[in-house]
Amino acid sequence: LKTVHVQNVKFDNYSMEEFLQIFEERLLNEEKTFVVTANPEIVTKANTDPVYRETLNKADFITADGIGVVIASKILKTPLKERVSGFDLMGKLLHKAEQLNLKVYLLGAKDTTLEKAYKNIKAKHPKINIVGRHHGYIDIENEDLVTEIVDLKPDLIFVALGFPKQEYWITKHMHRFSKGLFIGLGGSFDVWAG
Ligand code: UDP
Repeated sequence: LKTVHVQNVKFDNYSMEEFLQIFEERLLNEEKTFVVTANPEIVTKANTDPVYRETLNKADFITADGIGVVIASKILKTPLKERVSGFDLMGKLLHKAEQLNLKVYLLGAKDTTLEKAYKNIKAKHPKINIVGRHHGYIDIENEDLVTEIVDLKPDLIFVALGFPKQEYWITKHMHRFSKGLFIGLGGSFDVWAG
């Protein structure tokens, strides 16, 4: 099966390697892409909140962020290939960004956390092109920040505002960009900050 429903969320049934191949091709073609990494909390919210459910329906790809989702898919007898967590995907995409010289933008977390995460990412990927970054305590309606980010023409926009804010920010502003892979990453910057 190419897609697997777990309750109201439609997951794309690819392995990490398959997702990376698809994303690389879309990045090289400058095809805009919205990725959701959905954990059980996100599935639960999609069940009870129709606005959030509609927002998730706009995703180009939804990965299973958490073993709970994979276990649920097995119980439903439509097993997902594997867990593809936001944090792991971010690591692989950073590696790709460094290899392919893609422009990266980091949006999210507290200022001090973001600075630590930025330093640690640069330490692991010295040649990476991080074109900008901003903490995540922003008003979703703030268009000035979006204009700033649009002007940087990033290829990868990592949005770590926590759910549902990150998915609302992406779907509200993605139309202003001409390219870019937008991905909601929850608390991943906190992990990078150590
Ligand atoms: N965060 C943010 N802006 C907000 C609220 C939260 O940038 O308005 C950040 C917070 O600092 C943390 C992340 O979003 O880095 C949320 O992490 P959590 O693990 O709670 O996210 P979840 O995986 O539950 O989406």
